[in-house]
Amino acid sequence: MNATAEAVIDAEGRPWWLRAHRALLPDYNRKAASYWWAMALLGTAILAHTLRTLLALPGSSQLQVGAGVAIAMLAGVFPVRIPRSKNSFAAGEVFIFLLLLMHGPEAATLAAVGEALIGSWRTSRRWSSRIASPAMASVAMFGTASLLDAVIGATRAHGLHNPGLLLVATMLGAVLYFLLNTALITTVPHLKRNQWPTLREMFGNFGWIGITYAGSASVACLLFLTFQQSGIGVLMAGAPIIAMLLTTLHYFFRQQEADEAVRKSRLDAAEREAELASHHMRELEVSERRFHSAFTHASIGMALVSFDARVLQVNAALRMLLGIDADQAIAQLLFTDFVDPHDAATLNDHLMQLNAQQVQSFTVDLRMRHCRGVETWAAVHGSFFAEVEAAAPSVILQVQDITARRQAQAGLHHIAFHDSLTGLPNRRRFQADLGHALERVKADPRRQFGLMFLDFDRFKLINDSLGHAVGDEFLVAVARRIQLHLRPHDIVARLGGDEFAILAEDLDSERYAVTLADRLLDVLRQPFQIAGTEINTSASIGITFSGMGYATPAEMLRDADIAMYKAKSGGKARYALFDAVLHTEVSHRLRLEGDLRRALADGQLAVAYQPLMDLGTGRVTGFEALARWNHPELGPISPMTFIAIAEDAGLIVALTDFMLRSACRQLKEWQLRDDSFSELNMHVNVSGNDVAHPGLVARVNAALVAARLQPQHLTLELTENILMERLEAALPTLTELRRLGVGLSVDDFGTGYSSLRHLSTLPVDSLKIDRAFVADLQRGSSEAAVVRAIILLGNSLGKSIIAEGIETEAQLEQLRRMGCAMGQGFHMSRPLAAELIDTMLTSLVASGHHLAGNPRTERPVLFH
Ligand code: C2E
Ligand code: CA
Ligand code: CA
Repeated sequence: MNATAEAVIDAEGRPWWLRAHRALLPDYNRKAASYWWAMALLGTAILAHTLRTLLALPGSSQLQVGAGVAIAMLAGVFPVRIPRSKNSFAAGEVFIFLLLLMHGPEAATLAAVGEALIGSWRTSRRWSSRIASPAMASVAMFGTASLLDAVIGATRAHGLHNPGLLLVATMLGAVLYFLLNTALITTVPHLKRNQWPTLREMFGNFGWIGITYAGSASVACLLFLTFQQSGIGVLMAGAPIIAMLLTTLHYFFRQQEADEAVRKSRLDAAEREAELASHHMRELEVSERRFHSAFTHASIGMALVSFDARVLQVNAALRMLLGIDADQAIAQLLFTDFVDPHDAATLNDHLMQLNAQQVQSFTVDLRMRHCRGVETWAAVHGSFFAEVEAAAPSVILQVQDITARRQAQAGLHHIAFHDSLTGLPNRRRFQADLGHALERVKADPRRQFGLMFLDFDRFKLINDSLGHAVGDEFLVAVARRIQLHLRPHDIVARLGGDEFAILAEDLDSERYAVTLADRLLDVLRQPFQIAGTEINTSASIGITFSGMGYATPAEMLRDADIAMYKAKSGGKARYALFDAVLHTEVSHRLRLEGDLRRALADGQLAVAYQPLMDLGTGRVTGFEALARWNHPELGPISPMTFIAIAEDAGLIVALTDFMLRSACRQLKEWQLRDDSFSELNMHVNVSGNDVAHPGLVARVNAALVAARLQPQHLTLELTENILMERLEAALPTLTELRRLGVGLSVDDFGTGYSSLRHLSTLPVDSLKIDRAFVADLQRGSSEAAVVRAIILLGNSLGKSIIAEGIETEAQLEQLRRMGCAMGQGFHMSRPLAAELIDTMLTSLVASGHHLAGNPRTERPVLFH
């Protein structure tokens, strides 16, 4: 039958035998299946023959055969399994061979089939085995027994009745049965694997079973011989004894086996347990080793401490951090001994919280006590630590050196609050201290204090004539000298430039402050030796007292400043107290502030224009716009006064706007008057607060746009002090203004502290020499040297120089000779109201002068 036909039948419903075949032998190949079927059929045929033969026997024989078969089967139910092997002892064979000797091959075959049936039912769940095993036993036993029967028959025929011969023959028969049966059985798996079994594979493992078979057979033979001589009674008596013996043996072995199993399972369990335990131990050991190695070799400092801060263990990194030598014993010391006394309590608090389980861990910055006194800061992280073996839980502290960070922070803090030159507190810091002092007074009126404002009288001169390096050194020396004469809790600060402030706290502060001021004036009058030069100078001091009732540090500083100016105007090198008179001035100032606010809003302010002149040609090149305020009651107020007030009161932005718009509009008007006026320029002053205000560029632009004035015709004047004090903040604004096309000029040049240092990098077009230099201009004077130096410097840097405050012909001449390009001053024209300039310009156009003047023949003064 080919595969296709088989498939067709399958699909249409398989015949019963094929279904049985599939169910019985699902994993059998064709060869193995054929063998199986052959064995099954042959075995069945033999069994059928056997039964037929046995049924023909007489009843007594049938009874004996039945008993023998039953006993053989019973022996199959209780196999004697050999301890520590997979094999069972074939006890039933004794009876099988006894049946063979007594009743011939058929009886033995039935017994063998019965025993095999029981055995295979017990040991296998597969029907293929349950059928094949008795079938094969049937074939093997019938074959062997028939052969043995024939041999015995032949020997009897020859008259040989030798019991020894019978014994040997039976034993050989048993072995043959065993071999045949084993061969038949082992063939199946080999056929399944498509190979023939080797002899070794067949019998190698079972050789000794063959011997037991032989033993069984000899026992059977002996029984048979005894039976032949003594009759069935002996057999009847012997059978139970053998059965008992076998049963005993069975149970003995069973017990043995059970004991063995228990012993083995105990052993296994113990082994497993031991293995587990050792594994666990290993893990613990590993983790502990790992911890200890991490602990020991960590680059971060670590300590194990008890909750009362006793040191249990520290690592090398921590020893290093604390400067503890490797051989110094530290166990049982308190960890807090290594913490700065100021911070020890903090650490103890944290440990207590941890112990009380209020927290899981903590981190705290602590000052540590380095063994060699090195300043050491540490970030300490503490957390629970429960070691495997340790009886009491402890705390693990991780200690990280943060000294560098702390120092950097302190350094930054120092930089932010100290003057880099003298190391004294700076203005910001001083204001904070002053604020605290004022608060203390508020809380406790007995804690009065005095404030001194100290300014040197000739510092600018020192700086300009001897250079900034000397100026710096001078300031450092001054700072030191002042400090020498203060009490430890007095605070001295450098507010900027040559300005110092002193806060003197005392119950009797008024008298102390005055005494101190006298002393300071005295010691500062003593010459300073700096860079081989003797410097003689003096200071002016303004003093005010907390008793005046100040609310803010700024107010108090302002009054001390005012007092200092009074000292200066009183002749310098002296001190002045801020007193009732000055107080009146201050209230006067406060009144002006309110008035100025209204004046700005009501348009009471005006603009005066002072012409700027080309000193070479005598031609007017433009104007400086100056603010004017004619107070309705007090008359004209000096711009020096009201500009300062405007700055303090936050009115300067509005004032500058007013100036910018008025001046730009005015210039445009004049430019349009005549072609020769189209290049006129306008200078407008801006203050420090203007530059600090973010909208300056936009406001300037708006003024230009509103006036339709080109940017290059507008120049902004900024005082040198503004530039120097706020350079960082001002620089982007200045750069933007320049980009807009607006000119920039440094006003009052020469008066600032670090006048020349940053000049080359500043985005400015011109320098206006301060009128103080011009006023003191005499041939050979030091002012002349300064002016000449400024002009040279300006020329070399490509900045044009404007001299202001020219009051005399001589000054004009001298400046001209020095190469100063431009100038302004009362000698040429005072600042004039717009209408006056207007009239003048009109007359110029009419006379055809067009602003031009011949410097040699004509006085270049246009308006007087
Ligand atoms: P400044 O910017 O140095 O202005 C020049 C000052 O010198 C003006 O004083 C001017 O009248 C005066 N002056 C001109 N020629 C001579 C002269 O030959 N001899 C003398 N002794 N003085 C002369 P003014 O108008 O009193 O202004 C004083 C200061 O007020 C100005 O000094 C400037 O810093 C400030 N200021 C004036 N107007 C404004 C303004 O609109 N905005 C700002 N921010 N400040 C202004
Ligand atoms: Ca100016
Ligand atoms: Ca000026």
